[in-house]
Order: sequence, then structure tokens, then C-alpha cells
Amino acid sequence: MKHTLVASLAFAAALARELLPVKILAPSADHFRDIVSNDTYDFGCRPVARPTADGQMELHALLTRDQMAYLNHEYRSVDTISIRESLVKRATPAPIGAGDRFQAGTVAPVGLGTKPGGTTIASIMNVAEIKSAVGGLVAKYGVASYNLPYTTFNGATQYAAYVGAGADTSKYHLYLSAAVHARERGGPDNLVYWVADLLAANASGGGLTYGKKTYTNAQVRSVLAAGIVFFPLVNPDGVAYDQSSGALWRKNRSTRSGSSGSSVGVDINRNFDFLWNFKKYFASSVAPASASPSSETFYGTAAASEPETKNHVSVYDKFPKIRWFLDIHSAAGDMLYSWGDDDDQSTNTAMSFLSAAYDGKRGTVGDTAYKEYIPSADLTAIKQVAAATVAAMKAVGGRSYVSQQSVGLYPTSGASDDYAFSRYWAKGGAVNKVYGYTMEFGYSTNFYPTLAEFNQNILDTNAGFTDWALAAIAVGLE
Ligand SMILES: [Zn+2]
Repeated sequence: MKHTLVASLAFAAALARELLPVKILAPSADHFRDIVSNDTYDFGCRPVARPTADGQMELHALLTRDQMAYLNHEYRSVDTISIRESLVKRATPAPIGAGDRFQAGTVAPVGLGTKPGGTTIASIMNVAEIKSAVGGLVAKYGVASYNLPYTTFNGATQYAAYVGAGADTSKYHLYLSAAVHARERGGPDNLVYWVADLLAANASGGGLTYGKKTYTNAQVRSVLAAGIVFFPLVNPDGVAYDQSSGALWRKNRSTRSGSSGSSVGVDINRNFDFLWNFKKYFASSVAPASASPSSETFYGTAAASEPETKNHVSVYDKFPKIRWFLDIHSAAGDMLYSWGDDDDQSTNTAMSFLSAAYDGKRGTVGDTAYKEYIPSADLTAIKQVAAATVAAMKAVGGRSYVSQQSVGLYPTSGASDDYAFSRYWAKGGAVNKVYGYTMEFGYSTNFYPTLAEFNQNILDTNAGFTDWALAAIAVGLE
């Protein structure tokens, strides 16, 4: 009897910690501001408010039952805001591959764009398979792969690869990375299968087909010739843990700041050197990251304190002419462009992330105390490329995507996309200007896609990457 009681108490405790998909509805995005300013709630990559079919706004979150009960109590007398568990019964998530389908890098991956419509991939790559897949591309197509300088907390050697523009690393202009956030399953697969598609089509003289969207061989060759650098597994420790535990794990697995439970790990996407020290740079009323190790957005111990962040940054040094960067995340269904710390403005060059005069004022969306400077020509260019990307993703025929400024509802600090774009100004023009994007594929807070969704995500993102590259080429690579 005693054993049964202990077991059921443990089960109840596990249930209390279980994250429930929650939908918060309100008449406008402004209604969400108080809720999103609480840095203990999990809003996915970043809080994004989206319009509903009936003219309201919705915000998705992952909350424990206790958090949900608290919010329901707080807002019980506010009838404009409703908070409810998303009662959609989730089908079984796509399986994680067992073994190594690429046989230690001797078998090259083949994407969906070069296969007949309706073909599917049976499972998500495990950590070893991602590396093996890149090895397969090296063996079959002569892709160049290399080890990055820093080892992860759990001792993983990280790697990136490049293809399309020969041995001269100054000829590479496109950079894509995936799996910064561990639980966002399918990110590495989207990226690796896309590169595999480009190479297979290039070799056969054919084109690519993603649902209803097609590309010619000339377009494939043009994308490759732009020079592609890819870092498909930014957070291998986190992904290994997430795949073995099913714990919806987001951060890396460093125990420097906390040794157990949710206090383990740093959010790599709040660790980049862009307004990292948010308490200094942002208004005290906003929390673009968290200084608490138990938060999902814990920013680490210093800007770029994490080996994964350092490795990510090292790619810009090796490939000094990268112009376009895309970080692959899920799950919201959007393409986000700069900036992420506050609203954009193109009139006041002095109002910028470099100006100490605005410290303590940044991050309140919709006010005039601070807006981040972006040259109007840059803003036009990045919006154009984001629009082309989502148009291609919609044209596949699966679902709708939106492009929007990354600040959206709420600011972020230390994110990879803002870091990419900020480098040029932060280093006084001594380095190339990089346009940074975040793509959030998939469906709101659904980090573990079903097998059908996993395959649809590959089609959607691969069309998106192709048009992102083509639109970037049209704007300019130099
Ligand atoms: Zn993410």
C-alpha cells in the first residue's frame, strides 16, 4: 500500500509540472502585455500574438496547471481576456530515428524536393544521424565540413559545413542554423534535407518540387552559387536530452548556474552579444530575457558565455562575407525580421542600441521613448525578402505563414538574429552587414510535430529557404 501511495504522489507531482498548451484570447495584443512580462511563463521562442478568424488576438503558452489556475484567478473579473487549455488531442509525435539511416556518413540524405509527391520521411533524425547525414553529403557531393572551436558542456564537438562556392570562404553569403532550442523538433532535418535537395538537383540537372511550388534547375544552381554555410545542430546537448526524455527541453545542459530540474541550462537565444545585459539596457518594466537560471529564457553568465554561442559567432569570422542569416526555430508559423528589441524607426540615427543615452528606456513596444534605428533601405530589403519567403511557404499549399517584425508583442535581448544584424554597427563598420532572420516553422507551441506535420514542415521550410535565398540574391549578396 505504501509503495502505491508514493507512486501516485509522484505521478501527481509529475502532472502538476506537466506543461499544458494554453490559448489566451483578447481583443488586442495590448491586453497580453502584463501576462508576457512575467518571465516564468513559457511562450515558446518568443511571445507572438496572432489574429484569429473571428477578429480577436491569440497568444499561445505552455503553462503548468498551477500557473494556469493562477492566471485564471487573476483575470477572473476581466471578461475581455480568456485563458483556456487547448483541448486539441494531440496525435502521436513523429518518432525519433533509431540507429543510423546514413550508415556513418556513407549514405547521403535525399530530401523530399527530388522525390515524387506524397513521399514521406519516416522519422526525425537523432543526434548521431544529423552528423552522419552531413557526412553523407561530404562523401557524395564534396560538401566541406569542419569542427568548430569550442566543445559543449557535455563534451560534444560541434561542426558546420559549407557548399556551393568553392574553397574561398569569402565567397559564402548565406548562413543557416538550426536547433538552438532543443525541443523544436525537425529543425536540423529541414536544413539538411534542403541542402541535400539542392545538391541532388544540381547533380541531375533537375529542379525541385515542394507541394505546389516548383523550382528550376537554374534557380537551384543560383542558390548554390551564393555559397551556403550551415550549422544544423547548434544545441546537441539539449537535443540529446530532449530526444531521450521528451521533456520539451529548450536550453543547453550546462549546470554552471543550476544543477537540477529547470535550473539546468542557458537559453542560447538570449546569450548572444546584443543588449545582453538587459537590466542595464531595457526599461525595468520589461523582461526580454531572465537572470534566473530556472527560467526558460535564462541568459547565462556573460554575453556569449556558452560554447554553442561562441561557435555560432565563429562562423562569421571564418566566412567574412556572409550577408544573409536565417535561424530555424518552431513553432509559430512566421518569418521574423529585425529588430527584436523595440519597434523599428528610420529617422533618428542617434536612437540606437549603441547609445548609452537610451539605457533603461528600451523595449516598451508601442511607445515613443525608444525605437530602434534601421536605415530605410535595409528595412525595405529585409521586408521584401521576408515576404517572398512566406509567399513561397504558402504556395506549397499546406498552411499559411506570416512575416512580421521580430519584436512583435514583446522585446528580446541576446537573440541570434539581432546579433547578426547588429555586428556591422557594433564593430564600427569593420565587418560585413548581415541581415538576420528567425523562421518559426510549424504550429503554435507544437514543438513535437506528428509525422504528417514533420513532413509538411520539411516541404514548407524548404520552399521558404529556396525563395529566401533567391530573394536575397535579387537584393544583393555583396
Ligand atoms: Zn526557438
